[in-house]
Amino acid sequence: MSKGLLIVMSGPSGVGKGTVLKEVMKDESLKLAFSVSMTTRAKREGEVDGVNYFFVSREEFEQAVKDGKMLEYAEFVGNYYGTPLDYVEKLRNEGMNVILEIEVQGCLQVQEKEPDAITIFIVPPSMEELEARIRGRKSEPEEIIQQRLAKAESEMEMLNKYKYVVCNDDVELAADIVSVIIRRQMEKAQKKA
Ligand code: 5GP
Repeated sequence: MSKGLLIVMSGPSGVGKGTVLKEVMKDESLKLAFSVSMTTRAKREGEVDGVNYFFVSREEFEQAVKDGKMLEYAEFVGNYYGTPLDYVEKLRNEGMNVILEIEVQGCLQVQEKEPDAITIFIVPPSMEELEARIRGRKSEPEEIIQQRLAKAESEMEMLNKYKYVVCNDDVELAADIVSVIIRRQMEKAQKKA
């Protein structure tokens, strides 16, 4: 059995990466596994520890970095986010294609370590639509919303670092495009093996 693919999905916060991903993951033939990240940010309503994220303290996070346990990590709007390496490797060695939903700095680190990673950037139909989506979440104070919007602007400038750019105007269509990208890459990997 060949090692699973590493897929990185990024995009400004509020673009709906999670929703697109949920749709893509319904297709079991893609053999996808979601990499659960570690974060120091507070849990949002409805989020579950170990499912959406592993919620940890700053001390625990810094210790994991020191111990070399992270494939990548970054600080985003005042909190740490990172990908535990063991978990990703275990799944890939079982033949699963692992999806990382991470921000741009983390993606750059992954590309350094894993040049074959399939990188996909999700863009909103417009910046106005993005702002409306971020505000619609109503879970964060204005200051954080402003920080996320500023971050979104700067992240959009990095999309040329990605192999594929997909617009999330329509969730099902965006999910279909992402599925095709993954399927083609699986076929390519199989031919190589
Ligand atoms: P949120 O707070 O909205 O869940 O996530 C904020 C940002 O952190 C998003 O862009 C998300 O993709 C990113 N993120 C989530 N997990 C990780 C991770 O493990 N590493 C990195 N570098 N970014 C992450």
